[in-house]
Amino acid sequence: MNANKIGSPMVSLVGAGPGDPELLTLKALKRLQAAEVVLVDDLVDARVLALLKPQTRVLKVGKRGGCVSTEQRFIHELMIREARSGARVVRLKGGDPFVFGRGGEEVTALRAAGIEVEVVSGLTAGIAAPASVGIPVTDRRHAPGVAFVTGHRQSGEDSPDWQALARSGLTLVVYMGLSTAEGLVAELLAGGLAAETPAAVIAAAHTERQRQAITTLGELAQTLAREQIRSPAILVIGQVVREALPGLVLQARQQQLCLSSA
Ligand code: SAH
Repeated sequence: MNANKIGSPMVSLVGAGPGDPELLTLKALKRLQAAEVVLVDDLVDARVLALLKPQTRVLKVGKRGGCVSTEQRFIHELMIREARSGARVVRLKGGDPFVFGRGGEEVTALRAAGIEVEVVSGLTAGIAAPASVGIPVTDRRHAPGVAFVTGHRQSGEDSPDWQALARSGLTLVVYMGLSTAEGLVAELLAGGLAAETPAAVIAAAHTERQRQAITTLGELAQTLAREQIRSPAILVIGQVVREALPGLVLQARQQQLCLSSA
């Protein structure tokens, strides 16, 4: 387990998966149950935290509403301090720590402070959310590959080249795309993707609050508004959405019929 017993400070960067604790890896479970201190993000499901020992200290370091850069530095400092004190430290993140989770930045900061890091991969929402409604992110009948992209950029960061993605033929799996959905749909249409391209949204996948809708690219923004879809949600755009559970696809067709006849 964490190398503290042999003297060198160490942090385990652990992926908690999308929600359902049965989707944790065995290694994640072992690290959680051995942890003395856990630094946890907003998105980690309460059922996962319930697996910790009662005496484990849980430090909630979610960033909702805060000043992002200061807080990230604060998280680094906290991890370094706890690891140097000899505690078994777990840094727990939703999904996979290296997919839109700032895991890379945290590893860099820890290594720079001379602290060893172990990365325990988790099941990322971009794969698990579509799968929960029957959508494979790749399927050789529909798409030769998949692109995982973020809809949300901080100022000064590059946006994905949506028009190039529109031409790529890849399944597009968009994280953090709710607030920018209208703009990214417009870019994808401008890049030549047909308005009829199937699209799906899956919110709070593998949690008790899961919701989903199947629609088309052209109708995506209206669907998000009509269904009042809230974060966290994954958008999936591409022909693979055809493989969604039959009941959901049927429901989507009926809604479109209602809309067009209204
Ligand atoms: N490291 C995480 C992603 C963090 S970014 C992972 O690998 O899954 C946060 C975004 O992830 C959210 O805005 C949403 O797009 C997505 N997300 C995280 N958990 C989710 C869930 N249970 N259902 C749907 N989307 C989720």
